[in-house]
Amino acid sequence: MDIKTVIDKLKSARDVSDAELEALLTSEDEDAAAYLAACAREVREKIYGKAVYIRGLIEFTNYCKNSCYYCGINCKNTNAQRYRLSDEEILGCVKEGYELGFRTFVLQGGEDPFYTDDKIVSLVREIKSVHPDCAVTLSIGERSEISYRAFFEAGADRYLLRHETASPEHYAKLHPAEMSWENRMNCLKILRKIGFQVGCGMMVGSPFQTTENLIADLRFISEFQPDMCGIGPFIPHKDTIFKNEPPGGLRLTLKLLSIIRLLVPDVLLPATTALGTIDLEGREKGLRHGANVVMPNLSPVSVRDKYAIYDGKICTGSESAKCIKCLSNRVASAGYEIVVDRGDRKRI
Ligand code: SAH
Repeated sequence: MDIKTVIDKLKSARDVSDAELEALLTSEDEDAAAYLAACAREVREKIYGKAVYIRGLIEFTNYCKNSCYYCGINCKNTNAQRYRLSDEEILGCVKEGYELGFRTFVLQGGEDPFYTDDKIVSLVREIKSVHPDCAVTLSIGERSEISYRAFFEAGADRYLLRHETASPEHYAKLHPAEMSWENRMNCLKILRKIGFQVGCGMMVGSPFQTTENLIADLRFISEFQPDMCGIGPFIPHKDTIFKNEPPGGLRLTLKLLSIIRLLVPDVLLPATTALGTIDLEGREKGLRHGANVVMPNLSPVSVRDKYAIYDGKICTGSESAKCIKCLSNRVASAGYEIVVDRGDRKRI
């Protein structure tokens, strides 16, 4: 099978067979990989030009009631030093971020019942009333339709909920029995129905993941047509049962970024912190493979290293202003440019 023909088909018709996707995912042909990246860049630049959107990530709690096997802040990890940010601290991060040019704030956390619907609603309202020109994204896991509706009505614009894996069997190997793949997938549908801009996504190279699983992920992404898609390599955390598992690979992650760009041309696709963690220039490489978003950390430096979902996470030491400076240089070195913008999806 000629891989370049598969890539052309993917680009022009977004329609390839499982066998073709498998060939593309497992191919070690460097020329084909470079061609795939060039096609992804071309599509991305046609829609988004050279702009890179920034999202200010505020990791406001590392308490979590779940025990996802891969995650360092799962509730079973007694070594995790737990923290919660107060409303004032969160609003302080938003203020600082606004001054630095952020127009989107992502509130992410473990599934922490301390933050009741009312608390989230009042936080979202407050941010939106101070900064009506900004988008608020929530990434706080699975909740009920009633809760999601309340968040939306309070003004939240977007919701990130990675599907983690499109295979229920694979899901069951990454999560305890009380967690449900069906529920997670259903949450994504509800979020879409309510009117959120929705993000899904998965880890690359998570334990037990097969090429077949990745093909199922790509099929799901292609069918769901998310507004955003967060993918990054799995990275082991020392206090989890997956501590000795190998991390996901750089090349495969980059390839998947490019494929997703071709499958959903106008998707908002971050070059993730995890990608920057497995490779010093991972985020730059991500941008050169079709990514168009970066999500620098705006959390107070005092808590940054505590939101340790995996080992070795980068950018836990510097102040936000320093981080954004460093990132601007990195983005420029990749040939792109950070813009001050809400960074909504440009529908084609
Ligand atoms: N509680 C929220 C936020 C989870 S953290 C939720 O359930 O959506 C955000 C993402 O980090 C997760 O969805 C997962 O895909 C990723 N993640 C967790 N542990 C990881 C690890 N060890 N390596 C790489 N990514 C990880």
